Amino acid sequence: MQKLLPEIVFATNNPHKLEEARAILQDKVKVLSLADIGCHDDIPETADTLEGNALIKARWVKEKYGYDCFADDTGLMVDVLNGEPGVYSARYAGEHCSPADNIRLLLEKMTGLANRKAHFSTVVALSLKDHEYLFEGTVEGEISETLNGGGGFGYDPVFIPENSSLSFAEMSPEEKNKISHRGRAMRKFADFLDSFNPELL
Ligand code: IMP
Repeated sequence: MQKLLPEIVFATNNPHKLEEARAILQDKVKVLSLADIGCHDDIPETADTLEGNALIKARWVKEKYGYDCFADDTGLMVDVLNGEPGVYSARYAGEHCSPADNIRLLLEKMTGLANRKAHFSTVVALSLKDHEYLFEGTVEGEISETLNGGGGFGYDPVFIPENSSLSFAEMSPEEKNKISHRGRAMRKFADFLDSFNPELL
């Protein structure tokens, strides 16, 4: 007989993120999307830290819909730009800008700069019963001078993770997930669930 898994909401409707989370958490919890619980709210991301934004989203679902929930927030931090675009990575070139606009602005700001070190960081916030938990994942790398590859999303065509000659956009989703910021944070979350008393879920 199939085991009945506890349900938990991932505060996203991004199909790539849902697929990735379901693959990592498949034998532990059943992952629901915002649409699955009838949540079509435009959840505000008004904090100035990744932790803050991830917590806003997880708390929103917990408080308004009553579901245990996890949420993520990611930023690209470039050393020579003092950590820009950071928490503003999605809207670096403006409120309704495209990923291509963001990359264009980033490469423009880095024209001629030799230090191209950067890292991606993801924070996953979990609101479970009456407790909150945070899991962090980071990947170090460099920003290339030109775009490479057609896969992935966001800044993937210009991010070369350390110990690799390929950009994230040149890797398969599996290769990327093995080393990515989000993959690392999600695996920490999965490990936490493994060590957690299932009776509390
Ligand atoms: P979010 O918090 O996951 O929505 O990420 C915020 C922004 O960071 C996205 O809009 C992308 O621009 C960028 N980003 C997040 N994750 C990745 C990634 O894995 N590759 C490239 N860019 C990413």
